Amino acid sequence: MEKFYAAIFGAGIAGTAIANELANRNKKVLLIDPNVSETAPGPPAALVNPATGRRAKMSWNVHLCLPALRDLITELQDFAEDTPIISDTGAIRPAINEKLAENFRESLEKYDWPKGWIRWMEKDDVMAFNPNIAPNHGALFLDVGFTVLVDNYQNIFRQYLRDKGVDCRYETAQYHHHKKDDGFTIQFGEGTEAEAEHVIIAAGHQTPFFEDWEYLPLHRVKGQIVHFEADQDLEWEHATSAMGYSLRRGKRDLIVGSTYEHKFEDLSTSEKAFVQIKGKLEKMYPGLVDKVHKKNQMAGVRVTTPNKLPVIGRHPEHKNLCIYTAMGSKGLLFSQYVGSLLAEHLVGGAAIPEELDTKRFDGD
Ligand SMILES: Cc1cc2nc3c(=O)[nH]c(=O)nc-3n(C[C@H](O)[C@H](O)[C@H](O)COP(=O)(O)OP(=O)(O)OC[C@H]3O[C@@H](n4cnc5c(N)ncnc54)[C@H](O)[C@@H]3O)c2cc1C
Repeated sequence: MEKFYAAIFGAGIAGTAIANELANRNKKVLLIDPNVSETAPGPPAALVNPATGRRAKMSWNVHLCLPALRDLITELQDFAEDTPIISDTGAIRPAINEKLAENFRESLEKYDWPKGWIRWMEKDDVMAFNPNIAPNHGALFLDVGFTVLVDNYQNIFRQYLRDKGVDCRYETAQYHHHKKDDGFTIQFGEGTEAEAEHVIIAAGHQTPFFEDWEYLPLHRVKGQIVHFEADQDLEWEHATSAMGYSLRRGKRDLIVGSTYEHKFEDLSTSEKAFVQIKGKLEKMYPGLVDKVHKKNQMAGVRVTTPNKLPVIGRHPEHKNLCIYTAMGSKGLLFSQYVGSLLAEHLVGGAAIPEELDTKRFDGD
């Protein structure tokens, strides 16, 4: 029977990241996901923004997370050749009220932002830069912010992993703990089996339903986005983030999000969310809603924890059963660096930062 160092359940943003980090450390990896492929549909765009929320708070360990993601993207873009995986146009955060302007200016003082990452733009500069933006009190401009074309990014990443020797299986599977040692048998739907020294669950919002991880305080928040097409070519390419975001793809497409739905029954899209998202677009770009039409509306779920940071580490009883989840709204930014921490822990025995470790929930 084929033996792997790790079987990873989930080939989304976390699963591909940890698969890559283990492959980089010469480990034999099995990546399993019944819902995706190497040409799968996916979200058309997502934002990488290191200064988030109303206070433009510096994201956790961003000086390590952002370069790790950038390095990976450079490697994937070389591999992808002509298929674009990001739109590297920066992100503007217009201060659409005075309080936001105050907060944003404070963020520039409060945090030790690396040189060239972020700057303040006066109102007149904003209007000269993009006259379509809503009246504002100035803006933060994140030169390091960028838009990821998530469908391309994920499909290319899976192709890249396969090319690198990762065994990618797009089918259902289950794991069973061995009684005699700490290993696992992986059983595929069509009857074949493999063995793995470690199992890593990186199944996004399905993770809380894995019986072994039911004890974790994982919270699921549904979110919807709308993919619009403008009637004419749009004059700007940068991303915009102000109480919502608007991302560009191609000459006319605009991806606007998102809702935060803490109570939900399913992943259907709703008219209520559409109206809310149109409202967000109107706040960022007044009048634009009348010049665009809806191409698509999508729903997904973010997983979060009480400290709003990812969870990585080992199961308290089955030490070779691991997890990588709960990246909230910053999955892309966290993915590579946090993946490298888990890989370093498994392969080299490095300690996991307390704030990320599953151990923070032991005894809950
Ligand atoms: C509306 C919305 C907008 C967002 N915007 C942004 C943004 O702008 N920027 C950003 O960085 N993040 C954004 N996010 C968050 C981002 O999508 C998540 O942080 C990220 O996808 C989490 O990665 P993951 O690998 O944990 O989950 P996913 O990427 O969802 O991957 C999980 C994978 O596990 C698979 N799976 C499920 N069950 C099983 C099983 N039993 N066996 C094997 N595989 C399984 C699934 O098919 C899936 O492919 C947004 C999320 C939402 C909902």
